[in-house]
Amino acid sequence: MLLDDLQALKESCWLNTEKLPFEEAMRICPLTMEDIMDASARLDRFAAYFRVAFPETLPQNGIVESPLREIPEMKKALEEDQHCVFPGKLLLKMDSHLPVSGSVKARGGVYEVLKTAEEIALAKGMLHLEDDYSILDTAPLRKLFSRYSIAVGSTGNLGLSIGIMSAQLGFRVTVHMSADARQWKKDLLRSKGVTVVEYEGNYSEAVKQGRELAQADPYCHFVDDENSKTLFLGYAVAALRLRKQLQEMEIKVGPDHPLLVYLPCGVGGAPGGIAFGLKQVFGDSVHCFFAEPVQACCMMLGMATGKHNEISLEDMGIDSHTAADGLAVSRASGFVGRLMAPFIAGCYTLTDERMFRMLAQLSDTEKIDLEPSALAGMYGPVLMETSDAFSAFRELENATHLVWATGGSMVPIEEMKKYYQTGKRMLCD
Ligand SMILES: *Cc1c(COP(=O)(O)O)cnc(C)c1O
Repeated sequence: MLLDDLQALKESCWLNTEKLPFEEAMRICPLTMEDIMDASARLDRFAAYFRVAFPETLPQNGIVESPLREIPEMKKALEEDQHCVFPGKLLLKMDSHLPVSGSVKARGGVYEVLKTAEEIALAKGMLHLEDDYSILDTAPLRKLFSRYSIAVGSTGNLGLSIGIMSAQLGFRVTVHMSADARQWKKDLLRSKGVTVVEYEGNYSEAVKQGRELAQADPYCHFVDDENSKTLFLGYAVAALRLRKQLQEMEIKVGPDHPLLVYLPCGVGGAPGGIAFGLKQVFGDSVHCFFAEPVQACCMMLGMATGKHNEISLEDMGIDSHTAADGLAVSRASGFVGRLMAPFIAGCYTLTDERMFRMLAQLSDTEKIDLEPSALAGMYGPVLMETSDAFSAFRELENATHLVWATGGSMVPIEEMKKYYQTGKRMLCD
């Protein structure tokens, strides 16, 4: 049934009936809160570096973090449009406006580059854990890093994040881009001295080629989006930061105050890492959902069948072409799918048209501009009210809905206008 709907590109919901209570899930989980704390401490060490290398992080004292905002006008628009009412606040986590690369990839991608740089500099005795990390922005360290290279395969945003961060530190860097990647992302990277290799094929092809080339070179670190624990933990740190922001906004999360979180999902690293962090912080009080385009529903396919990365959309005759380029992936990460299987509440899919409509609505109601991928989460709160699969969540009292906005602030104005006009036309039809 579900597979037929996926193949027919119907919007679908999948409830994870194999989700375990948090304590039980942790017993079979290889990662812990300590791993997240370690990543968090590393990012804190780098704050002094960010204050000099990325002065836009100064207001946050060198920490790369995004705003959390309530969006009541968008909530009204969604409710009117969808003829439903969902109780509780609607919040937007604006990773679309993260410093460095303007997408959620500024968490995991940046973190993996920093960890690599730290390891090299420590091993060479040119850096010590107690040093002021702003020395990483000086000539001797840049010269050291120029002997190494970093490579990554990407649909666009991961490439931007890895490329910008690596080039800033002085690494040589190569980004292997899939056919879905936007031209402006390639242009921007080339302007920063990044080598961009373009592929006719899809994302998996770009990753495979990149991985093979990198493996032949001992001075090259390959960022493996499909398997990297480092990326995953970089994303997970978001949860510690979010806990603080919720406290500052006096929004309670606990057994009587559930938090429902909707995360756009591509290969799974970003939403998986964030959801993992949220589970560590809030346990059974948080319910995390992965959101995917109907044409790129690889995580739902992998989780619902239990086959994870052993099944792809090609096997199902689905082509993974979507305007949500950040999510245009045909095979989910097996590492993330298996790790998150006992933690995730469910998955859902939505059409590109729906993402575009919500893109225009959000711009009209809240003056926030996001790229199409980043709207995937926005449909979640509506589904909690309207879908049969998620009916159990309808009964939750005092719920807060949090939509994770994953990208948009670096999209050129002209591109953004086109996105907006596309959505606006659909709203008027
Ligand atoms: C990469 C990306 C995602 C999803 O991240 P994955 O790690 O691929 O699952 C979501 N939204 C945007 C805008 C992205 O660039």
